[in-house]
Amino acid sequence: MRTLVLNAGYEPLAVVSFKRALVLVMNDKATVVEHIRDEPVWGATGAYDRPAVILLTRYVRVPGSRRVPVTRRGVLRRDGHRCGYCGKSASTIDHILPRSRGGADSWENLVACCLRCNNVKGDRTPQEMAWELRVTPQPPRGGQWTVRGTERSDPRWEPYLALAA
Ligand SMILES: [Zn+2]
Repeated sequence: MRTLVLNAGYEPLAVVSFKRALVLVMNDKATVVEHIRDEPVWGATGAYDRPAVILLTRYVRVPGSRRVPVTRRGVLRRDGHRCGYCGKSASTIDHILPRSRGGADSWENLVACCLRCNNVKGDRTPQEMAWELRVTPQPPRGGQWTVRGTERSDPRWEPYLALAA
């Protein structure tokens, strides 16, 4: 069984053997997002759950890579799950220039947002609200989708692959 590796922004990055994945996790280079239950790996110090999906703790920068696909999770993670307007805990993302007014689904136009600010802002711009953005939204650098179509996919990967599509 193979393990899907997500870059720090949750973009699918690579597929590796579960042994390689375990080494990354044990060296604190990655955290396990999804386990494969009931198929433990036996090591010197006991049994481990096999990782189905792991998340790198730092961005891997791929030279000459394309832009990182925008994902909801990626925006939340980039902004540290903090609202771009008020700094409180964010669980949604906001189109800075609303989509209804031509705002793009881009890293530059999306920001983590708390439910309250999102509801209050509605279809208005920060300028219209007299709100200041605490951050300058930028695309994360690095990561590239390198999961090839020929890789045998695991059903547990699908939610993560769909996010980047
Ligand atoms: Zn807020």
